[in-house]
Amino acid sequence: MPELPEVETVRTVLAPTLNKRKVVQVVISNLKVLGNGTPAQFTYGILQQTITKLTRRGKYLTVHFANGNRVVIHLRMTGVLTVNHPTDPVARHTVMLWVLDNGDQLRFADDRGFGRFWLIRDGQPDLSGQQKLGVEPKNVTAEYLQQKFARRTLAVKSLLLDQAIVAGIGNIYSDEICFRAGIAPMRPGNSLTPDEYARLATTIPAVIAEFITNHHVTLTEYRKSEGKSYQTDRYLQIYGHAGQPCPHCGTTLNGTRLNGRSSVYCPNCQK
Ligand SMILES: [Zn+2]
Repeated sequence: MPELPEVETVRTVLAPTLNKRKVVQVVISNLKVLGNGTPAQFTYGILQQTITKLTRRGKYLTVHFANGNRVVIHLRMTGVLTVNHPTDPVARHTVMLWVLDNGDQLRFADDRGFGRFWLIRDGQPDLSGQQKLGVEPKNVTAEYLQQKFARRTLAVKSLLLDQAIVAGIGNIYSDEICFRAGIAPMRPGNSLTPDEYARLATTIPAVIAEFITNHHVTLTEYRKSEGKSYQTDRYLQIYGHAGQPCPHCGTTLNGTRLNGRSSVYCPNCQK
């Protein structure tokens, strides 16, 4: 599932190709992709409208239009957003397609079908879920984490996955963050020391920023990989490495499950 760094890659790669383009046709092939409203409402909310910018908040992308309307997009498990030339073969499970005024097409393909598009009209409340998000990783402070975790007995990893606390962290980066911070993922949130809150507060933005850089690809690379080239795992230190030696101390990494999510940690380095 794409997490904040991957969604940010999609944003930086696609933003220049969408900026100032007008939507001249909308094709919705599966109604499930609409998070609200009808296909006609969605289509007429953006048809003949010019895109002014593409922004990101947590794992949500927002396409802004000159008329003040916005389309909020969540890729969920398998959603892939690409801008294609009209002659490019259309990927299977393409559920949404916008023809742009230069002939290019914004396409959304989604194997599992959990991805969603919401039309938010100018002045209307955003009910996509984005309105409930906690802070962006770059704005996390030790005081904020302490305030959010202090009365919680839930595992630190599970608290990191809570989008209402910090937006954009998923299963992969929560493991990487706990490892870098030297904190065992199953520790109850309220058991952390002030020093550990401080470590977590510096590690969260650092890991996310590092992976935004690591995942950066050019538009050509992105197109060649059909929007999936950012899914590289060569920089991950412990996610997916259960049973392998810890990159710091050589101890075998433990794989476990916490509240239904897989988790990998080093029993020696993470206290
Ligand atoms: Zn270790």
